[in-house]
Amino acid sequence: MKNKIRFNKAYITGKEAKYLGNVLEQRTSGNGIYTKKCHQFFSEKYGFNKCLLTHSCTAALEMAALLIDIKKGDEVIAPSYTFVSTVNPFVLRGAKIKFAESCSNHPNVDPESVKSLITDKTKAIVIVHYAGVACNMDAILSIVKENNLFLIEDAAHAIDSFYKGKPLGSFGHLSAFSFHETKNVSSGEGGMLVINDKQFNDRADLIWEKGTNRLAFQKGEVEKYEWLDVGSSFLPSEFIAAMLYSQLESLTTIQTIRKEIWNSYYDGLVELENDGLLELPKNNKFATQNGHMFYLIMRSKEERTLLIEFLNERGVQAIFHYLPLHISPFFKSQHDTRILKNAEHFSDCIVRVPFHCHLTNQELAITISEIKNFFLGNC
Ligand SMILES: *Cc1c(COP(=O)(O)O)cnc(C)c1O
Repeated sequence: MKNKIRFNKAYITGKEAKYLGNVLEQRTSGNGIYTKKCHQFFSEKYGFNKCLLTHSCTAALEMAALLIDIKKGDEVIAPSYTFVSTVNPFVLRGAKIKFAESCSNHPNVDPESVKSLITDKTKAIVIVHYAGVACNMDAILSIVKENNLFLIEDAAHAIDSFYKGKPLGSFGHLSAFSFHETKNVSSGEGGMLVINDKQFNDRADLIWEKGTNRLAFQKGEVEKYEWLDVGSSFLPSEFIAAMLYSQLESLTTIQTIRKEIWNSYYDGLVELENDGLLELPKNNKFATQNGHMFYLIMRSKEERTLLIEFLNERGVQAIFHYLPLHISPFFKSQHDTRILKNAEHFSDCIVRVPFHCHLTNQELAITISEIKNFFLGNC
């Protein structure tokens, strides 16, 4: 049988084993040398005020919900077309989620929809930069400012991507990145909280270390460490940090390969778009794309399902993406009656194609030609 063209495969830089060996010899628990190197990498490269590695992007968002003191009755506005982790951390603190609509021409959240959901209970807006392409930040920032809200960026897809030259992850009061296996840079599981609003600097350290001032103790600033606040064990071990650091050192290579793959898909498939058979992701002069993923927007759910079956039968692992959260089994009874037709459209029609650094030119060519074959047989 032919080898499958895998949707995802972890990128191996070659330095992982050495760094993991160093961890075994030095220190395995968290906040050691590699954790500090990772924090420093992001602060220096993107000018982030303060970074804290976490076990996941989900955990970083849980820290964000604690830091902005989300309480029962607070409302949080978030897109419906996203992963559960964008909102679960706020639900855990008792927030009521108001789900916003996607733009008509992009899965990102529509600022007009966000604006229409603001009430005097609204505390925060959580945004997602889908496929690493920035939301309309001018519009979002003006809504945040006018209404005195917290902005949280779920930047899970958005490493090394920019809006008008400013790095994603630097806009929110707090921002969260993911280093899950499916993201551009990965430590298996992993994430990071970025603290852009300095008022949260000290409390973030406490929450990260189980509500204690252990960090201050380690720096010799206090004589003993004590329980000062709520918190949890948010810091990952040095193994995770060492894995991540080996990837960060190769970030330029990773990004170059991923953008080449993105361009190959685009160039190979644009004639299908010109023929009106599907839509491809749009480039935007304000917002970069960072080679996070490549997706097709099919004309209908039926066609989307047929294409995925067609590709899978031919050994190409293609998959759909988010199911809208406002109509999920968990949430639908809490949702108001608004129909979010754009969110449902992207959920119904998006197909994601194999995308990872080990994808060969031959695998890319096969994937592109099989997508074309589908339309030859189905028009
Ligand atoms: C992957 C992802 C997450 C969750 O990341 P974890 O690191 O697995 O917690 C959250 N939000 C979005 C938009 C994601 O794509």
